[in-house]
Amino acid sequence: MTLSHDPLQKMRKAPGIVRLHGHRGARGIWPENTLIGFQGAMDMGIQAIELDVLLTKDNVPVVTHNPKLMIATSRDKNGQWLSNENLNVAELHFDELRQIDVGGILAGSTYASLYPDQAFLFGQNIPTLEDIARLVCRDAYQNVWMNLEIKSTPLGNHVMPSPKALAENVLSLIAEYGLDSRTIIQCFDWRVLREVERIAPSIPRSYLTYMDCPAPVMAPNIYVDSPWMAGTSYNDKSELCEIIVELGGAVWSPFHKDLTMRDVERAQSLGLIVNAWTVNEKADFDRMIEFGVDGIITDYPNRAQRHLLKRGLVWHDNISLPK
Ligand code: MG
Repeated sequence: MTLSHDPLQKMRKAPGIVRLHGHRGARGIWPENTLIGFQGAMDMGIQAIELDVLLTKDNVPVVTHNPKLMIATSRDKNGQWLSNENLNVAELHFDELRQIDVGGILAGSTYASLYPDQAFLFGQNIPTLEDIARLVCRDAYQNVWMNLEIKSTPLGNHVMPSPKALAENVLSLIAEYGLDSRTIIQCFDWRVLREVERIAPSIPRSYLTYMDCPAPVMAPNIYVDSPWMAGTSYNDKSELCEIIVELGGAVWSPFHKDLTMRDVERAQSLGLIVNAWTVNEKADFDRMIEFGVDGIITDYPNRAQRHLLKRGLVWHDNISLPK
């Protein structure tokens, strides 16, 4: 395949270009997974938005991260912070979910301390995937890609739709809006990606990875006999790229601290795009740039832009360095 026919060319690194993906929009500055956050990231010139999708009880794909509504970011229709930690998105009807305001983080919560610069807004609904599709279909955003994460777990610790239902509902919406040519589907639960391949084999799939480690900050999905890996046989990290290539993956999306330069070179030599998550600190931007990743997924696209510019780099093809 020559580069000019590469449908993923705009998501691959190029000389002087590192692609930036706005994580949950731009979580560092706007409330996560909100229309205003995605629009803010795109108006900043970011050409890939990262978003998380779950299904409501009535099968509406909605853009929110946790299987259970996060109480530190959710207010009810009376403006009260939610107190029930056990509200499963998959058990709520869309009409109920739509009443929640996710425009801010509860002061004093641990989560608030992680994002001290995030704006506090009122009246921000959980968007549907359709809301986001409509937004990126606007003329101004025709060059923007969706790096769409389907949230799923094989562990049985959450009420969850089946991988098949998740993939079917998301893909039919993508097809309806003609967004197939600028959507990447990513997932930690590779069973979902298997369904995506079955239904829409031409949509690029991104295999999210988080290696098992002594003190993981979330559930790792890469280890021997992991149920997250769709039955593939895995013994050692060195095999990861081969497994993803064998599964027909286009993108490898590892936790940035799991990566080495050798991993990046190996993956790219096999044709994979490497998008590292979630990179927010200057030293980590530097490390990823030096490793030569294709894309950086960040809560702070603003910070990443300034950092790239300082190093003589830009984040997409249609801009040139200020002189
Ligand atoms: Mg995500």
